[in-house]
Amino acid sequence: MQIVAPFREAADLIKEAGGEKLKLCFQCGLCTVSCPWNIVRAFLPHKMLRQAQFGLFELDEEDWWLCTTCNTCVSRCPRGVNIIDIMRAARSIMIENRMVPASLRSVMASLGSVGNPMGEPRERRLDWAKGLDVRPFTRDSDLLYFPGCIPAYDSNVSGVARATVGILQKAGINYGVLGTAENCCGESIRKAGHTSLFEQLAKSNIDTFNDSGVTEIVVSSPHCYTTFKDEYPELGGNFKVSHSTQYLARLLDEGKIKLTGELDKKVVYHDPCYLGRHQGIYDEPRQVLSRIPGVELMEEVDSRENSLCCGGGGGRIWMETKKGERFSDILVAQAIERGADILATACPYCILNFKDSLLTANKGDVLEIRDISEIVEAVI
Ligand code: SF4
Ligand code: SF4
Repeated sequence: MQIVAPFREAADLIKEAGGEKLKLCFQCGLCTVSCPWNIVRAFLPHKMLRQAQFGLFELDEEDWWLCTTCNTCVSRCPRGVNIIDIMRAARSIMIENRMVPASLRSVMASLGSVGNPMGEPRERRLDWAKGLDVRPFTRDSDLLYFPGCIPAYDSNVSGVARATVGILQKAGINYGVLGTAENCCGESIRKAGHTSLFEQLAKSNIDTFNDSGVTEIVVSSPHCYTTFKDEYPELGGNFKVSHSTQYLARLLDEGKIKLTGELDKKVVYHDPCYLGRHQGIYDEPRQVLSRIPGVELMEEVDSRENSLCCGGGGGRIWMETKKGERFSDILVAQAIERGADILATACPYCILNFKDSLLTANKGDVLEIRDISEIVEAVI
C-alpha cells in the first residue's frame, strides 16, 4: 500500500524534524551502499530521500519501517544529511495515516497505558530484583540505577540488572532504584516517529526523577543513555548519565571493585550502534573486558565504527524480521566461526536478538551471550 502525503505536510514535517539538510543530498548513493539491509535484501534510502526532496512521500509501507537507525549512513554521508531524522518524519506521517505495523500499534498502546512496551503490569517492574536486597531510591541516595524495560521485564535479560546492582553493592555505592515509578525512556518510540508519546513518557520520567531528587543515573541500555543525555535536556531533564560500561571502567580505575576471579575464555565484543556510532563509546567496554584475568579479547569481523547493527534499533525490536533477513543471525554465526566462547555486548536489544538467533541456530552449547556487567559480576 502507498500513500502520497500532501506537499506542505511533508515539507513542514521534514523541516520540523531538523531535516533542512535534506536539500544538500546530491544522490551519491553512499547511504544505500552503507546500509546493512543491503546485505540481506534490497533497500534504497537514497531513492526514498529523492522523493522526499520533491515533497512527495510515496510511502511504501514496509520500507519506511525498516531503518534500524543504526547511524551508519549518517556517519558517512558526505553532505551531513541526517537520514534518521527524515525516516522519523516519514514515520510520523504514516502514524497520522494509521499505517503502522500491528505489533508496533500494540506497543504504542502499552506505552501509553502501562509505561512499558510489553504491556506488563506496572507492579511487576521490580520482579527482576526478586531475592536481592535492592535498595529503593531515597533523597539520601547518590545514584539512580535505571535498568530499562527489557532487563526489568524479560527474564532472558534480567541478569543484566541483577549483575549491575550486585556490582554497585560490592563497590559500596549508595545507589537506589525507582521500581514501579519508572516509565520506558521512550527512545524506540521516538525513533518510530511517535513524538507526542515519547514526550509523554519523557516528561513523566523527568518529573519522577526531579521529585525524587535524582541528579546522577547509571543505565544498562545505550538507548536509555542516548535519550537521557541528548533528548531529555530539551524537555527540562538535566541529569548526569553514565552507561554501565563507563561506570564500570571508573569503578575499576578507582579501585572500588577488584577483578579477583579468572575467566579463561575467548570473548568477542559487539559494539552496539547506540553506544558506538551514536555516542562514540568504543574504548571503555574493551578496557573493562581486557582487564579480566584469562580473557582473550577478540574483535568482530566488522567492529567499532563499522560494527554491524543487531537489527533492534529504531523500533525494529518490536517488529517481526523475516528469517534470512536478521542481522543478529549473521553476527552470531561470525562469532561461532571465529571460535569465540562468549559474544559480549552492552545493550539489552543486542542480547535479546543474539539469544534469539542462538536459539534458532540451536548453538547454545558452543556460544554464550553475555552483557559486560554479567561477565564482571562473576569475577569480582
Ligand atoms: S549519502 Fe548523503 S548525499 Fe549521498 S545519497 Fe545518501 S543522503 Fe544523499
Ligand atoms: S540508519 Fe542504518 S538502517 Fe537506517 S538507512 Fe541508515 S544505514 Fe540503513
